[in-house]
Amino acid sequence: MHFFLYLCTLNWMNMAFLLDKEHIAQAQKLIDNAQRIVIVTHMAPDGDAMGSALAMYHFLSCQPSVISGEQQVTVIVPNAFPAFYNWMPGAEQIKIYEGHAHECDPLLAQADLFVCTDFNDPKRIGHVGEKMMENNCPKILIDHHLNPVDFANVVFSFPDACSSCEIVYRLIKAVSIQPSAFSHQPSAFSLQIATCIYTGLMTDTGNFAFNSTSADLYDIIADLLRAGVQKDAIYDAVFNQYSIDRLRMTGFALYRKMRIYPEHHLALITLSADELDLYHYKTGDTEGLVNMPLQISDIYYSVFMREERPKPGTPKPRIRVSFRSQGDRPVNVWANEVFHGGGHANASGGELFGTLGQAVALFEKTYKKYIV
Ligand code: 5GP
Ligand code: MN
Repeated sequence: MHFFLYLCTLNWMNMAFLLDKEHIAQAQKLIDNAQRIVIVTHMAPDGDAMGSALAMYHFLSCQPSVISGEQQVTVIVPNAFPAFYNWMPGAEQIKIYEGHAHECDPLLAQADLFVCTDFNDPKRIGHVGEKMMENNCPKILIDHHLNPVDFANVVFSFPDACSSCEIVYRLIKAVSIQPSAFSHQPSAFSLQIATCIYTGLMTDTGNFAFNSTSADLYDIIADLLRAGVQKDAIYDAVFNQYSIDRLRMTGFALYRKMRIYPEHHLALITLSADELDLYHYKTGDTEGLVNMPLQISDIYYSVFMREERPKPGTPKPRIRVSFRSQGDRPVNVWANEVFHGGGHANASGGELFGTLGQAVALFEKTYKKYIV
């Protein structure tokens, strides 16, 4: 009976993609038998990274281990997340690797299960990835980036999903009706879990402005709203938290630092480390800036470069490059081949170790090849 219900629900829930029941059973077994679970997500965590990691944190925190009756669940992120995610349920429990390696290294070494969310390659999580790969314990991957590297034992990889949070939603939904260690759950979606998932759906789709045309997504949102999610408050907590400096820096970037290449429907914004200092730059202050030139009627490609001063041991500055595009105009090949990065067709990133001038020169030398 349970099995029949399970299949019916899966068919109804997964018109866009199917979470394989074998994979679900494998993941469930790994979780049931783990005692020290570490959840990791990508560098410079965004709303989907935070949401998918924290939703899994809340979900797994209520699973008693088969062995001991107790499970220790920890979230480790490679570096700091923006302050406008501080309010997320569980954010105060997150351990930040950068600056706290001595605290995180034993947790990474002693973990008996890793749950990896919102990245497709251990390289995307820096030193955390190195430590994770030194530990041979099982790994579960939940992600929506193309072509995941083969490093996890159980993989839920769905590039068609709008966000990793969408996959987390479907996973929790699927396991919560299975007769097993999970079935004691009174409700699959606590308000905490639902809030974390909604945050990732909202941020990875630009508040449902792109990558969000599937009708199933709105069924999911309806379910989350029924769980009590305060969608307008979440929007406010994430998007309406600018400091005065951040808004002035945005104005400066658009007014003084945006170059338009009209024949190629392309915009480029750059901000140097000195310019960022002027506006007391904090992590997250440039988030969303790269999307703004796309508001111009005939601009379909936008690139943003931000200079980071050299860190001790690295002689050159690091230039973080963000790419955005609209419609059938992929930018991930450009990000990959020229700036050692990658990502989604319409949202990618990369980096260059060198000066901002060198990064701009490389951009100008290559854009004609990569944009249509
Ligand atoms: P952002 O511009 O917001 O930093 O990144 C946009 C998207 O590009 C991310 O969601 C991620 O998928 C991808 N991305 C950003 N930086 C990198 C990178 O260095 N390497 C790869 N492979 N993907 C990246
Ligand atoms: Mn994502």
